[in-house]
Amino acid sequence: MNVAAILKSKCGAVMTAGRDTRIETIAGLLVKHRIGAIVIVSAEGKVEGIVSERDIVKAIAARGSMCLDETADAIMTREVVTCEPDERLDRLMSTMTTGRFRHVPVVQGGQLTGIVSIGDAVKHHIAEVEQEASALKTYVLAGQG
Ligand code: AMP
Repeated sequence: MNVAAILKSKCGAVMTAGRDTRIETIAGLLVKHRIGAIVIVSAEGKVEGIVSERDIVKAIAARGSMCLDETADAIMTREVVTCEPDERLDRLMSTMTTGRFRHVPVVQGGQLTGIVSIGDAVKHHIAEVEQEASALKTYVLAGQG
């Protein structure tokens, strides 16, 4: 399974915001859309950063609720690890584990085309394992018949 197959089964566009978006607005978008991260893009659609719920919690712990008035630019991670649609699921899961993050934006030809969360990755991994187990069971039963 690759990232393109995961994106095909997801609906809706990737949630994005500009670097001048207030953190309070970003927190509201995370809650409204029930997601854990927002990709920060330039006017041309290039990925400039990512703000996850963890960044907001960290900022609140450090500076209190005053940080909600700051903009995404102040807390976003700038070195964003991205992947391409042909990336394999096992490689993506290993990238998330090693990098200790739960979201990977998908980029093709320099443009953002999707995002895969650890939830998406685990869901598809389980489906893959179940399919393999079922195929193996069919094979073993056919051998007994
Ligand atoms: P997360 O586990 O995705 O909530 O993110 C944990 C930390 O990693 C936060 O500081 C995020 O800004 C950062 N982060 C999330 N996704 C990525 C990514 N794809 N590349 C680099 N950093 C990321």
